[in-house]
Amino acid sequence: METSYQRHPGQKDGKMAVVTPLFSVLTEMLLKTILNFVTNYKSFRFGRVSFMKKGKPDQHIVAVIHPRKNSKAVCSECGKPCPTYDTTREARRFEFPPLWNIPVFFLYTMRRVTCPEHNVIVEGVPWGDGKCTQTIEHRQFLANWAKRLSWTEVAECFNTTYGKVFRAVKWIVDWGLEHRSLDGVESLGVDEIQIRKGHHYATLIYQLDKGFKRLLGIEEGRKEESLKRFFDKFNKETKGEDQRSKKVKFVCSDMWKAYLNVIGKYCTNALNILDRFHVKGHLTDAVNETRKADVAKLKKDGREPILKKSKYIFLKNPENLTDDQATKLSELVGYNLRVIQAYLMKEDFERFWEYKSAYWAGRFLDDWCVRAMRSKIEPMKKFVKMLRKHRELLLNWFKSKGLSSGAVEGFNNKVKLTTRKAYGLRTFDALKIVLFQALGKLPEPKFTHRFW
Ligand SMILES: [Zn+2]
Repeated sequence: METSYQRHPGQKDGKMAVVTPLFSVLTEMLLKTILNFVTNYKSFRFGRVSFMKKGKPDQHIVAVIHPRKNSKAVCSECGKPCPTYDTTREARRFEFPPLWNIPVFFLYTMRRVTCPEHNVIVEGVPWGDGKCTQTIEHRQFLANWAKRLSWTEVAECFNTTYGKVFRAVKWIVDWGLEHRSLDGVESLGVDEIQIRKGHHYATLIYQLDKGFKRLLGIEEGRKEESLKRFFDKFNKETKGEDQRSKKVKFVCSDMWKAYLNVIGKYCTNALNILDRFHVKGHLTDAVNETRKADVAKLKKDGREPILKKSKYIFLKNPENLTDDQATKLSELVGYNLRVIQAYLMKEDFERFWEYKSAYWAGRFLDDWCVRAMRSKIEPMKKFVKMLRKHRELLLNWFKSKGLSSGAVEGFNNKVKLTTRKAYGLRTFDALKIVLFQALGKLPEPKFTHRFW
């Protein structure tokens, strides 16, 4: 629209005016209508709304906000209406979700109020907090895209920075953590993940109740302190027998001593169950150790390297083997190898989980352990010792009817997938935010409009 570039009356230098008055009035009305449609700030109204064709960024929309007449400012701490103390000198710019990818900013001059409780304090505004230059809507907008794209991609797509995306997601996650309810949790799952190469672990705690499964906590490390930190937060504002950890009925965990100790201390009314997924993990490790020893022995004896490329055959469940792997496995069975013996024992152990009664499962377990000890395969003997030590906890599995067996494993897979997708996350904080956003089922602030 060429005619829209006219000289502004009173403009002396040769520069073009931004828009003609008529165009500006229509644009303003249109933009104001849209803004009123997507927001509901009761005590505030939109003033001038301009479409700017220069400045920073070079194209953007600025909407000036004014307090409504006769409306009282509220304290940003307690939300109570208070008398105005003064008005800041400069208007503050708040970023709002873009319109047709044109950045939108609010311009508002913050007031300070005198609160009987909080003294002279900046007022509270419904679109943000005084410290941040992003509106809550903009944070939610970026955070929701961050569920589907990496943080770098979100920054690229919406003309913003990685740092702003990070802060947006963090704010939304923190809001969710503050507003979530921790009451009524009856089943917990504890798991560990390796977060970086070397001995860098994180302890993850899940709620595993029927109909409500979510990530409840992430703590750095896998020591007693790690899990203790979680339970102290979990029990916050509850005391004595009313402590949330005392109302937990089932805790599903690995045989890791640090965890067992803390669970025993905090969840005094719970049945501690060794998770099938973790037991299987230890058994698979034992088979893998046996394979390694066999490979070394074959090499030492100068024999044919028949175990070459066999690692995953022994790690996978038989039903997941490819045709080639299945053929190779049946060939290997013909050789008298320790790994084959260990592998068959591992498959045999699966029967343990199918028992209905703890008594018969216990009988099976004891027989299986005797057979495994007789095999004289060191890694298997080590596994047996671990089982014998935790016999009671293992049999608790049969008393925990209804606790989903695949839940911890399912979460473990999702966590791996999420952290892989969120490559480039260097800090533990970032990892925590990403995982909580993906698996925490956190509540979100409510808006009049969905911007994403
Ligand atoms: Zn106050």
